[in-house]
Amino acid sequence: MAVLDILTYPDARLKQPSLPVDSFDKNLTNFIHDLEQTMDAGPGGVGIAAPQVNKFLRIIIVDVSPMANMAKTKKRRFKSSNHGRLILINPEITSASGAEVAREGCLSVPDYTANVERPGVITIRAKTVNQEIKNIECKGFEARAMLHEIDHLDGKLFLDRIISTRELFRRKVYN
Ligand SMILES: [Zn+2]
Repeated sequence: MAVLDILTYPDARLKQPSLPVDSFDKNLTNFIHDLEQTMDAGPGGVGIAAPQVNKFLRIIIVDVSPMANMAKTKKRRFKSSNHGRLILINPEITSASGAEVAREGCLSVPDYTANVERPGVITIRAKTVNQEIKNIECKGFEARAMLHEIDHLDGKLFLDRIISTRELFRRKVYN
């Protein structure tokens, strides 16, 4: 188990598209453990994609529970579905509707956040580590996190989706 190094903007490797996973073996499970550890070690990480750690395979992890718990503590409404930890292999968006604008950050873009428009409701089809096919409906924040991570698999960052630089914000330093 290991915490892996994260590629950060403007590293050109973040633009490289990732390939579908075709061998579900021990190497894959080991890598996924490392990817989980790396996400959990990051500041406020609710998602991670394999290419962020220089592995160009279509694997994402999303877990919005920390945000759901935080909203609960602060007695704020959490506008999101919450499936807990999802480890998705070869994810595909099978439907998308609505449009919502919200602030996004990224482990690979430590200095900035931005307002990005994304669909509010999506359906994803993906494989689990056990090669089961799952169809998952996500809403709100969880849908946003999924779309953000799937973008990484196509070599896209949230920075590529900003309509105006007025929507870009310098992040406060993490303490
Ligand atoms: Zn990201």
